[in-house]
Amino acid sequence: MNIPVENQKISVVSNIFKANDHIANENRKLLNDSGVFAINIMGSPGSGKTSFLESLMPKLLNNGLKAGVIFGDIATTKDAERLQKFGIPVVQIMTEAFGGACHLDASMIKEGLNKIQLKDLDLLFIENVGNLVCPAIFDIGEHARIVVLSVTEGEDKPSKYPTIFLRTDLVILNKVDLIPYLSIKTNDLLKEIRKINQKLDVIEFSNKEVNKTKVWLDWFEYIRKLKKFI
Ligand code: MG
Ligand code: ZN
Repeated sequence: MNIPVENQKISVVSNIFKANDHIANENRKLLNDSGVFAINIMGSPGSGKTSFLESLMPKLLNNGLKAGVIFGDIATTKDAERLQKFGIPVVQIMTEAFGGACHLDASMIKEGLNKIQLKDLDLLFIENVGNLVCPAIFDIGEHARIVVLSVTEGEDKPSKYPTIFLRTDLVILNKVDLIPYLSIKTNDLLKEIRKINQKLDVIEFSNKEVNKTKVWLDWFEYIRKLKKFI
């Protein structure tokens, strides 16, 4: 029997996702068994994913939370080096070795998890490859997702890339200190995000406001809420 080429393509794609989801569920089980809550951080290149983690880390550590980070990068270890200074477990996955993938998938995370003593952690952050498209469609075994969106990216990003905004638990609206210099207002950006996903939690953030307590109270509250699901 001849299967039309188009149908063959569809079945190859669905097999890829099936295989990925199977490994993702194994990853999640391993994390659950180790009591580790994993957060997949996604966003455009330059949206501030790494600097967000850099600002967040001392606050988490000071509050007694033990965290580790897995970085997905196409070719460099620059991001990983920025987090190593906190003396926490940091694993770098260079996706170039997997064919230059523009996203992390579950099998890459499986390898990364083998390199970390999960029993020593409460939280695992996974910084995905900077990209608003395919990271959204790959389950990597995480418990929650965050999209870091910089105010400088323009208000059209949520409507241009709806999938990632539909498949996240939280948006960190980053670099809000730059708002006075832009023609866009924070409320307009919030409206654009909510047009795509009405219920989405958004935390306004900037490295300059790291010490404003409210941001961190929001954060700890958020993580506490999430941890209940493990
Ligand atoms: Mg980065
Ligand atoms: Zn990709």
